[in-house]
Amino acid sequence: MSLIGKVALVTGSTSGIGLATARYLAHQGCNVMLNGLGDLHQIEAIRQEIETETGRTILYHGADMTSGAQIKDLIETTVEALGSIDILVNNAGVQYVNPVEEFDPEMWDKIIAVNLSSSFYTMHYAVPYMKKQNWGRIINIASVHGLVASVNKAGYVAAKHGLVGLTKVVALETAQTGVTANTICPGWVWTDLIKKQVEIISERDSISFDEAKKRLVQEKQPSHDFVLPEEISSLVAYLCSDAARQITGANHTIDGGWTAQ
Ligand code: NAD
Repeated sequence: MSLIGKVALVTGSTSGIGLATARYLAHQGCNVMLNGLGDLHQIEAIRQEIETETGRTILYHGADMTSGAQIKDLIETTVEALGSIDILVNNAGVQYVNPVEEFDPEMWDKIIAVNLSSSFYTMHYAVPYMKKQNWGRIINIASVHGLVASVNKAGYVAAKHGLVGLTKVVALETAQTGVTANTICPGWVWTDLIKKQVEIISERDSISFDEAKKRLVQEKQPSHDFVLPEEISSLVAYLCSDAARQITGANHTIDGGWTAQ
């Protein structure tokens, strides 16, 4: 499997799964466009660190994934600055929890924009380049919540179910080309997004952070263990390989048995 010289764009790659995946792909030989929110000095430090570690070209574009116009610029800048767009990992995501009757409508709009519509825009602008070169890999980071539901996650579950469906459409539309489109559906992965949820449970139930962490993972994940971000990254890299050329339109769960129940 050689990804040397391929160009990868990973949205939401300033932390968590996205950062681990950008780093992993750079170590496989990809030139990478980073994207995401955060402190610009910290992001620049991360960019330089990955570039030094790997000797690849690593760039950053701060497109806000709620803006179709900024996403268009992100795709065009990636192609102009790095020469092509070969691998697209749609990973940016936000979370917010509340029962449907108390669900803040602004948060609904934001979750749909970041977790679903952004992937429409990235694919809308990137697929023509991929089709033209007859090679491309699209990996959309959905969730087990793209396949099953949990309480208090109306926006997230709706967006991730939508992303699973959207990916299948793009897989069918590109099926007779060298482009594939797949989703990865992780269970609990130990990242900042989950740490925030653990803090909420710890406060709500007046228990320690460690007790809340255990309670969260044991409630859903039969393995009683978190997935690690790097384990998602290596699945991304496999789906990018030539060995995976006939894997398209598929959901790849990595969830410690969550959806086997
Ligand atoms: P994270 O909070 O560490 O990372 C989210 C990334 O998205 C960050 O880089 C952030 O800056 C970026 N982002 C958020 N809003 C943005 C916006 N408007 N524009 C541009 N970038 C934006 O979270 P994570 O856990 O690494 O999650 C990454 C993806 O994996 C998400 O799509 C999430 O839904 C999914 N996921 C996570 C888990 C888990 O347990 N952590 C499980 C299943 C799926």
